[in-house]
Amino acid sequence: TPRGSFETGFYSGKYDIYDESRLTLISHLREAIQNRQTELYYQPKIRLSTGEVVGVEALMRWFHPERGWVPPDEFIPLAEKTGVIKHLTRWVVDQALADLKSLQSVSPGLTMSVNISARDLLSPGLDELFATALETYGLQAGDVIVELTETAAMDDPDKGLQALERLASSGLKVSIDDFGAGYSSLSYLKRLPADEIKLDRSLLQDICSSDSSRTIAETAITMGRSLGFLVVAEGVEDEASARLLATMGADMLQGFWLCRPAPLESIKDWLLTSSSVV
Ligand code: C2E
Ligand code: MG
Ligand code: MG
Ligand code: MG
Repeated sequence: TPRGSFETGFYSGKYDIYDESRLTLISHLREAIQNRQTELYYQPKIRLSTGEVVGVEALMRWFHPERGWVPPDEFIPLAEKTGVIKHLTRWVVDQALADLKSLQSVSPGLTMSVNISARDLLSPGLDELFATALETYGLQAGDVIVELTETAAMDDPDKGLQALERLASSGLKVSIDDFGAGYSSLSYLKRLPADEIKLDRSLLQDICSSDSSRTIAETAITMGRSLGFLVVAEGVEDEASARLLATMGADMLQGFWLCRPAPLESIKDWLLTSSSVV
């Protein structure tokens, strides 16, 4: 496409949080969705024991006509602060589930992981949003995984827990994203109705070169599995790490080593040509 790709695209802006341009930027985001400047990319996830592709994660991309590709780490926090996240999440859930229906025609049983923010979790209407999209596209609730960070769930622990339990009881799967990246309250983790935890890239980065990193990663995997969670290693960039994580007992893996996030059609092609990856 004339836009090039987000993955290789040039991005020069670093916005100050009080910079007026950030406010201008965010005021454009709502229109951007309508004007098709936003797009979902998908990144596959495999089961390590079999190499089977089990699902994909939806990752939002925004091509701003003047600024070029704006990374989600820039606009998602802004969208959360300004309340625009509500519109964004509405679009993401609908688009991701429509695309899941299309991906399942190539790869039956595939799951779709959708990132949501703390603000989404605590605002009413999230359950209906998923229920409506599931019905519209004729999908099973169990094929959809809701990813949120642990800090998001902890924003208001009691309400967060209630909201998560509601999602889980409707049949959706719940995943704790970026585990190990922030403050991790193990006693809270134990109470979360989650099916999966995703070990943050920062936790796995040096496992091939550092004994202490390896010990921490292995301990996190063992703990997660003992608590009954499926454990996903995310951000894996090389084969040596992938093999090590498999021997440490991680259930699933995502990362550039396997496949970079890519547009729907590219992921469809990838799914058709990579029936066994490892
Ligand atoms: P995340 O959910 O933890 O997603 C993983 C991030 O790591 C993605 O960055 C992905 O492109 C990147 N990644 C995957 N494999 C590798 C690897 O091997 N090496 C490295 N260095 N990076 C890898 P991305 O797409 O820039 O998204 C950043 C964050 O923005 C996401 O982190 C998520 O928290 C948020 N985000 C993205 N899309 C959405 C969305 O639709 N809604 C919400 N609420 N948040 C989103
Ligand atoms: Mg995620
Ligand atoms: Mg993550
Ligand atoms: Mg993240």
